[in-house]
Amino acid sequence: MTNQLSDPGLLDLLFPFHFILDAKLGYVQTGQSLKKVCSSLKVFEEDFSLVRPGLGIEYTFESISSYSDQVFILKLKKSVAGMLLKGQFVPLVDEKRLLFVGSPWITNEEVFEQTGLKIRDFALHDSLVDLLQHVKVQQMAVEDVNEMNQMLIRKNEELVSLNREMREAREDMEIKNVELRKINIELDKFVYSISHDLRSPLLSIKGILQLIPLKEKLNTGTVKYLQMAEKSVNRLDQTIQEILDYSRNARLDLRLSTFSLVQMIEGVFADLRFANELPVSFSLEISGSSNIQSDKYRMDTLLKNIIGNAVKYRNPDVKVQWVKVTVSSQNNTHIIRVSDNGIGISEKNMPKIFEMFYRGSSIVSGTGLGLYICKEIIGRLEGTIEVESTPGKGSTFTLVVPTAYQK
Ligand code: ADP
Repeated sequence: MTNQLSDPGLLDLLFPFHFILDAKLGYVQTGQSLKKVCSSLKVFEEDFSLVRPGLGIEYTFESISSYSDQVFILKLKKSVAGMLLKGQFVPLVDEKRLLFVGSPWITNEEVFEQTGLKIRDFALHDSLVDLLQHVKVQQMAVEDVNEMNQMLIRKNEELVSLNREMREAREDMEIKNVELRKINIELDKFVYSISHDLRSPLLSIKGILQLIPLKEKLNTGTVKYLQMAEKSVNRLDQTIQEILDYSRNARLDLRLSTFSLVQMIEGVFADLRFANELPVSFSLEISGSSNIQSDKYRMDTLLKNIIGNAVKYRNPDVKVQWVKVTVSSQNNTHIIRVSDNGIGISEKNMPKIFEMFYRGSSIVSGTGLGLYICKEIIGRLEGTIEVESTPGKGSTFTLVVPTAYQK
């Protein structure tokens, strides 16, 4: 046993940090890893301080031998990091020698790195290796968390700056919106006053044109020219009136009152009969009450346009031309259907008829504004407008509007 333990190769393998002292505490042998940490071991007392067992122990062979049942902690005074060794002195009595078997006592990877030791400098059974590896894994986890933290901080900064940019863009948009609204209001006012101012002289011209044939004796050629002039003036007046309708709808708030749709529709029928003097057959069917709380002016404009178009786009090839209006109510809405057996609308034109200035037919005169205004009005009334049509057979416009508004 003693001989085996004295075998330096075997001892190095099992305890690479061992050393053997003689009776005078001189070094007989030192392990290769211990040499690596401190190459100049000369006098035991100067090389090591006995941290444990502590008081009462002396730097003599006998004293140290008497503590052979204790764990020693030795401080390697000359090593870089003041490294500690933890182990046990085994007296080799026959040879009057002391064998120290132990290994570094390191709990911190930083200290381990300072010693310059590698894992292979430790014995395979040394639990310190596991501990160091555990510490390393923990440190790696801490580094990972730190890195993740840094990344989160960076992302957070990015988000904060993105947020700021978005807020600035929103503020910018709000300012632009206010400006745009102002410009729009000014434009509407401008359109309104221009149209209004244009209409008064136009009405005087219209009056004079109607007066001349009554006051003067005219030849047929002049009458014809006057009639042409009156037609143009009427067309211009119609355009101005429609621009005014558009402008009023855009400018004015809803003015609510309760009125009868039946009366309003019959009024529209009467105006159309009077203006056209044509054998168009008008009919009106009501189910339920036709009383509605809405904007009278807007509703009138809406019905005049839709029913007016049904007359305007009548089919000359049909014997009995008719326009039929039905009114019903359902789920707090009034549904108004205006059907005709007119020329109808082609599939190609259908998506465009509500566009501003779009005209799908030139057989009669018009501005292309009527249905655009209707769509705008329906928007203000929070309703819907839909159309179904078969070319050559006729069209049906369906308006759905609220029966009343919550205040
Ligand atoms: P305008 O009547 O001045 O041309 P509108 O905006 O009122 O303008 O109508 C747009 C187009 O929709 C018309 O040119 C016409 O082609 C089509 N349209 C509207 N109502 C009818 C209808 N009842 N029957 C057939 N076509 C219609």
